[in-house]
Amino acid sequence: MVQRVEKAVEILKNTGVRMTPQRHAILTYLLETMTHPTADEIYKALEGKFPNMSVATIYNNLRVFKDAGLVTELTYGDASSRFDANVEEDHYHAICTTCGAISDFHFPYLRDAEVAASKDIGFKVTGHRMEVYGVCDSCQKNPH
Ligand SMILES: [Zn+2]
Ligand SMILES: [Zn+2]
Repeated sequence: MVQRVEKAVEILKNTGVRMTPQRHAILTYLLETMTHPTADEIYKALEGKFPNMSVATIYNNLRVFKDAGLVTELTYGDASSRFDANVEEDHYHAICTTCGAISDFHFPYLRDAEVAASKDIGFKVTGHRMEVYGVCDSCQKNPH
């Protein structure tokens, strides 16, 4: 984990981004919690440590991380974007409709769909999106 944070700090340095204690804390939080937090959740987790920090600061930093390719933004058509720091592994998301938790899972076979689109209709594919919805393991065990 420390290694991942150090690597991310290095990437930011190389793109000319100055490291501040707040920026470092947000980055570390993102890399440590693989829960795909919203900006609000990051804010709530860190406001105790940085009383002067605003939600706008979180958003500004998330944009910086996004531009540097360190996080991806998962948009859901409303204001509650979630941020994913797992950019090294191709993965999909299973979203719990009860508690909202997002879990990563691997399913490499959909690469073929991109190949098919490119072969069959000459499409220049830039990506695809697939999500699984349902009830997570913990919600199944502890019904609300
Ligand atoms: Zn759940
Ligand atoms: Zn993810």
